[in-house]
Amino acid sequence: MDLPLREELRGIEPYGAPQLSPDVVPVQLNVNENPYPPSEAVVADVARAVADATRTLNRYPDRELVALREDLAAYLGHGVRPSQVWAANGSNEVMLQLLQAFGGPGRTAVSFAPTYSMYPEYARDAVTGWVVGHREDDFSLDVDHAVAVVKEHQPTVVLLPSPNNPTGTALPLDTVTAVAAATAGHGGVLVVDEAYGEFRREGTPSALEVLAETPNLVVTRTMSKAFAMAGLRLGYLAASEEVCDALRVVRLPYHLSAVTQAVARVALRHADELLARVDDLRRERDRTVQWLRGQGLTVADSDANYAFFGTFPDRHAVWQGLLDRGVLVRETGPDGWLRVSVGTREEMARFQQALTEVRR
Ligand SMILES: *Cc1c(COP(=O)(O)O)cnc(C)c1O
Repeated sequence: MDLPLREELRGIEPYGAPQLSPDVVPVQLNVNENPYPPSEAVVADVARAVADATRTLNRYPDRELVALREDLAAYLGHGVRPSQVWAANGSNEVMLQLLQAFGGPGRTAVSFAPTYSMYPEYARDAVTGWVVGHREDDFSLDVDHAVAVVKEHQPTVVLLPSPNNPTGTALPLDTVTAVAAATAGHGGVLVVDEAYGEFRREGTPSALEVLAETPNLVVTRTMSKAFAMAGLRLGYLAASEEVCDALRVVRLPYHLSAVTQAVARVALRHADELLARVDDLRRERDRTVQWLRGQGLTVADSDANYAFFGTFPDRHAVWQGLLDRGVLVRETGPDGWLRVSVGTREEMARFQQALTEVRR
């Protein structure tokens, strides 16, 4: 049957890294998950909250997410008010809503490659033009180039991850404020995607620090990475109240289930415990970067929970060699490079062992 598929969707494969069973590939270092599952105390609290939420599942959930937004605002600090917070099923949904509200036919969204491969998909799905500038050889963003691209294409949405995926590169605040100002010049918004914000190194700032004085800035976060709750699907943002009000117009009715809201609130109550492993992961990240450099490889500076390393004349052969040894990493970004998520001490030892064998 010849489906009336949109022209731009013909022949497109669904996005996603290979999802292989842990029985087949025991060391899974390919989608930047936190390797530490929730404790039994968190499990018990979540079970209680789900039971409570179940008692009223005959009713629709709070579509304004009032209690959850209060908890998220308290977690973010920086003077962020609940009315400045919005949440959805993963920050992927938050960003799609941003494109639905601020993109659209005849408009353009901009980012700088190499970067997160979902951004052009949000633009496509929201029928928004897509323009990519470039990053420098060390994957930093040249602020003059960024401002020039913004001035030329006048995007209504600029997407800048900090740290960047897949490279791990964070943005200095003066880049954030310069791009925000250039974007404000024609009425656009700048989205700084801080999915990995909690992993940033000592001294690396969060864009939240300039949120109050930058009205067209949107900072997105997620519970999928540092919070170790990828299975929950909870992403959120901090921005002006006007941005949140615009997203309330495009969201689906009751988009965030009562169960999701309840579990997210439990996770936030346990933030200290869930985030306790972040310091371990940052140390393990720094050790991994050092070890890879010690092997004579090039590694991008990382403020995230992964390392981007290369370069290999045949990266697919290296990826396959690691997979044959039970270690799954990600083949992504510019040719010749691979990305490895930071796992437990033991997992990283197995990664190092496997990579040493593959390169022998
Ligand atoms: C993982 C990731 C996200 C978060 O996605 P969720 O939908 O919240 O799980 C957002 N942006 C980037 C760059 C990511 O790598």
